[in-house]
Amino acid sequence: PQPFLSVRDLRVQFSTEDGIVKAVDGLSFDVERGKTLGIVGESGSGKSVTNLTVLGLHNPRSTTVDGEIVLDGQELVTATEKEMEKLRGNKVAMIFQDPLTALSPYYTVGRQIAEPFMKHTGASKKEARQRAIEMLAKVGIPQPQTRVDDYPHQFSGGMRQRAMIAMALICDPDLLIADEPTTALDVTVQAQILDLLKDLQQEFGSAIIFITHDLGVIADMADDLLVMYSGRAVERGSVTEVLHRPQHPYTWGLLSSMPRLGGDTSQALTPIPGSPPSLLNPPSGCPFHPRCAFTGEVSGGRCSGERPSLATGRAAACHLTADQKQTIFLDKIQPR
Ligand code: SF4
Ligand code: MG
Repeated sequence: PQPFLSVRDLRVQFSTEDGIVKAVDGLSFDVERGKTLGIVGESGSGKSVTNLTVLGLHNPRSTTVDGEIVLDGQELVTATEKEMEKLRGNKVAMIFQDPLTALSPYYTVGRQIAEPFMKHTGASKKEARQRAIEMLAKVGIPQPQTRVDDYPHQFSGGMRQRAMIAMALICDPDLLIADEPTTALDVTVQAQILDLLKDLQQEFGSAIIFITHDLGVIADMADDLLVMYSGRAVERGSVTEVLHRPQHPYTWGLLSSMPRLGGDTSQALTPIPGSPPSLLNPPSGCPFHPRCAFTGEVSGGRCSGERPSLATGRAAACHLTADQKQTIFLDKIQPR
């Protein structure tokens, strides 16, 4: 059967004063119904741009999009803005890192939660308000009948995040995109919000794309994992396979800089030496080669000369042999 969301050879380019930025450069992935795909990578790896493109929220005047994005049989790259408006907030919804970017200070929380419901279902104001109260209750806001008339500034950070989740889920979307949804919250509230998301996914059956730089959070939330670097996927597989037997040197770097899998995840990642690649002038060959400690294991200068491809299924885009990919991590790089 067709995956619910299928992205094929996606390319997203921005024209800037300095030249063409290849923000996403040949990305393919699938998301199944009811499953969570985690996307990890440093900022600038293309993970947020990919998802804004899925939602059709890129600026059409400065952005070129090529490739295929097929959502439940509908092609989105060629969809009109009108068609995208019908999808957004209805079939696909998004939770952002900062609720204040999604919630306006000028309207009550209830009115903002109710708005997509009125827009997409044609419900009356009264029906939509009732539905907003139900949704506030579902996301764990106490006294929803009263809080529905509060303004965002009367909510705590955690409550605003819950309100944004209520707004995202009010039309029962088939796909929920969560971009660093808990990064701004303290650890306890973060854990509560993640639990809430898991419960609601059970109830609503939505597919989720969960974007983060936090591998501890991803281990808890995702079924499958995509590791992005320089606008490309460099590794993919089930979350267990990728986190326990990673096959790409970039993933090794992410993991070995982690405190301990399943341990304290509040500590920030120690960055991998070197800086993320320029998207204006990406490195030749493997985009990770200027930072990779294993180029010496690959002969013939292939790391800087030849772009490694990513096979389908469980795979890593790297010139190391299958045997090296399996053993180097286990021999040398166990996470601390
Ligand atoms: Fe490192 Fe070469 Fe593999 Fe790229 S292809 S990750 S540079 S070993
Ligand atoms: Mg981002």
